[in-house]
Amino acid sequence: MTADDAQVAVIGGGVVGCAVAHALARRGVSSLVLEAEPGLALAASGTNSGILHTGFDSEPGALETRLILRSAALREQLLEELAAPVWRCGARLTPRDDEQRQAVDRLAENARVNDVEVVLESDGSLADATLLQIQADAVGVDLTVGPPDTTVLGAALLAGVGAGLFASVGDAAEHLPRGRVVAPRAEASERSPQRERWRAFVQAAASL
Ligand SMILES: Cc1cc2nc3c(=O)[nH]c(=O)nc-3n(C[C@H](O)[C@H](O)[C@H](O)COP(=O)(O)OP(=O)(O)OC[C@H]3O[C@@H](n4cnc5c(N)ncnc54)[C@H](O)[C@@H]3O)c2cc1C
Repeated sequence: MTADDAQVAVIGGGVVGCAVAHALARRGVSSLVLEAEPGLALAASGTNSGILHTGFDSEPGALETRLILRSAALREQLLEELAAPVWRCGARLTPRDDEQRQAVDRLAENARVNDVEVVLESDGSLADATLLQIQADAVGVDLTVGPPDTTVLGAALLAGVGAGLFASVGDAAEHLPRGRVVAPRAEASERSPQRERWRAFVQAAASL
């Protein structure tokens, strides 16, 4: 194809220009991407923080939020098609005082309104559901997500065992509310190399 054959000229070869060209190609429309720099994505698109946003913290109903949620829905298939490498590390917000805890609680509510899956943990941390999947895959067992105050509930139930209210710890555990269950998705054959990579990463980080 020559420049004269292109039906559309896309100016700028950042992520937006490339996404436009990609969307056109999918619809059978030929395009020519014109970029001022010697290569693609040399401006904001190639020099940003590299975070794939999930939409947990953006304003419900805002155009930006709608676009983030739409891109999150399209992302997996596109990443696979482009064989783009992604480090699926998840994210975690840990509050250090009451004020921050309230802010994290508000973010959890925001995520719920935006229909983005997050987990409030017993120490008040807000975690991306990706972390749970990584943990379930790493150990190869189902993870059961409890309520935010599981630690307090556990202590209360143990006190109940001590006071003779429950026959055993197992009996008391039956009273712990259970939330979502995250089952491992990775094959057993993937687990061992994954753990090795994780250990190497932890050792490398510890030696910094
Ligand atoms: C510091 C920083 C961190 C960020 N972190 C994140 C993040 O973690 N996650 C996230 O999702 N977003 C992040 N962003 C936002 C994200 O990088 C931008 O929204 C996105 O890259 C914008 O893409 P773009 O294609 O519109 O712009 P650009 O990537 O800037 O592309 C525009 C292109 O147009 C070219 N151009 C301009 N004028 C002409 C012309 N006349 N002719 C030909 N070519 C031209 C430029 O050379 C450039 O290559 C971050 C942004 C910054 C600045």
